[in-house]
Amino acid sequence: MRKTFLGVVADLLFPRRCPICDRAVSPFGSLVCEDCRRKPVYIKAPYCMKCGKQLSEEAEYCADCTNRRHLYDAGRAVFAYRSISDSIYRFKYKGRREYGDYYAQCMAESLGRFIAECRPDALVPVPIHRSKKNSRGYNQAQVIAAGLGRLLQIPVDDRLIRRVRRTKPMKDLSAAERQNNLKKAFKICRNDVKLNTIIIVDDIYTTGSTIDAMSYELRRAGVKHIYYVALAIGRGL
Ligand SMILES: [Zn+2]
Ligand SMILES: [Zn+2]
Repeated sequence: MRKTFLGVVADLLFPRRCPICDRAVSPFGSLVCEDCRRKPVYIKAPYCMKCGKQLSEEAEYCADCTNRRHLYDAGRAVFAYRSISDSIYRFKYKGRREYGDYYAQCMAESLGRFIAECRPDALVPVPIHRSKKNSRGYNQAQVIAAGLGRLLQIPVDDRLIRRVRRTKPMKDLSAAERQNNLKKAFKICRNDVKLNTIIIVDDIYTTGSTIDAMSYELRRAGVKHIYYVALAIGRGL
């Protein structure tokens, strides 16, 4: 990635931390340490044709997608969740916003072809509730989407849909509870949505309930093709 002059000065004043080990990145000026680059585990074939989850044996769909109809068309993720969960935790809760550059770079490299084939009109980050954004300072999905949009030259639309209800932390809920938790959680902010194809961007994909809840509203607003990309994906339910 080419750096601006100001970017280089900023790196000198505040050395960039490695998203994997959280120490000053080495060699200087990289997004990730040379040794750390190989640590996160990439999702590779065979993976579910719908959600992109890693499969242990050759099959078309994972158990989840065989049993449940998702409201989006298809999606892909870069890393197995556990191999990068500590990094994502610091990115979300410890102010390591700078990790977003590395995440976007990984997604552009691994999912660039999938994204191009979707032919999206826009990337749409999963919105977080205003109160959460105020306490955290940024929306992690928006940081990733902005980086990805810059690298792939795709517009980012972060004003299309917003989160209107505060939801309970998803990790404590079952799949059915998650879906209930998300009912009416999102609202389209525009009367006239002129987008045919969009890609939703998130940091983690688990059950897909969030992507489904957004897809439900987006389809009602007239969006025809809805995909998702995420940095990491869990191994299943
Ligand atoms: Zn490192
Ligand atoms: Zn699946």
